[in-house]
Amino acid sequence: MNWKLTSIVVIGFVLAVVLSLPDNTPYTEEALVLPSCSAAETLVTTDIYFYVDDEVGKNFDRNRAVEMIDYANQVLSNSCIPLRRQLAALQYVAINDEKARDQYAMDELTDLGTSQPWHDALTDAIGSEQLRRHLNKKTDIYVAVLQDELSVIEDGTLGFVNIFRDQFVGLSEKAPIRALEHELGHLAGAGHSGSAVTNLAKASLLKFNSKAQPFSAQAVTCANAGTIMMSHSEIALPIYSSPEARYRNKPCGHSAYANNQQVMLNYANRLAENEAGQ
Ligand SMILES: [Zn+2]
Repeated sequence: MNWKLTSIVVIGFVLAVVLSLPDNTPYTEEALVLPSCSAAETLVTTDIYFYVDDEVGKNFDRNRAVEMIDYANQVLSNSCIPLRRQLAALQYVAINDEKARDQYAMDELTDLGTSQPWHDALTDAIGSEQLRRHLNKKTDIYVAVLQDELSVIEDGTLGFVNIFRDQFVGLSEKAPIRALEHELGHLAGAGHSGSAVTNLAKASLLKFNSKAQPFSAQAVTCANAGTIMMSHSEIALPIYSSPEARYRNKPCGHSAYANNQQVMLNYANRLAENEAGQ
């Protein structure tokens, strides 16, 4: 091999290695370009009720709840969604997590969705009258905070929704700050980056709420960061996917298939219409 060819091969090899290295550029707020919001719309406020399992205790306190709410509101405001989250109450209750786990393990849930046992356990804890009060107010969201991830669903899940309960969220005590708005996004119909699971959820949710537009849009990764509905990104951007948002000059959405911002806007409008009609 002559020296020129050798050096080309070596340079080619070095280039290939560089191109395959993970992009570890740290997050900078300046690199995030937000969509521009149009004229102010009427804000709808959702009241978030946290029901924390007694066993979790101080591992999930009011400060933690406030952090989650603040982050959620930052995401909504960054994404021009006329919707805000408000901490209505945080209460410690005895949730029979063990019974829920047993039910889950017994696989009796084919028709109800995998998180139904935790919804049942929460209903036992707060009483059906309190549950009815929440269900009568579409802007109420009730959140069960459960013992660590192994107690919830044994695959490391830190947050979940139930496709038949559009006001219920389950969180592990170890759920990251952004998990609340991520799960609330699901309740509004926002999706991940597309999978058989979300298609299944879409079919089931549509059966119960024909006006919903569930999972019609996806989350995206732009540069090395993910929008709020990307659950596994190390760098999480405080925005819903939108073709108007950019990070490090890369679009954070697509008008045809990655526009969770539009899904959230539709949801906010449905809630506002519902409020006006009451
Ligand atoms: Zn998710």
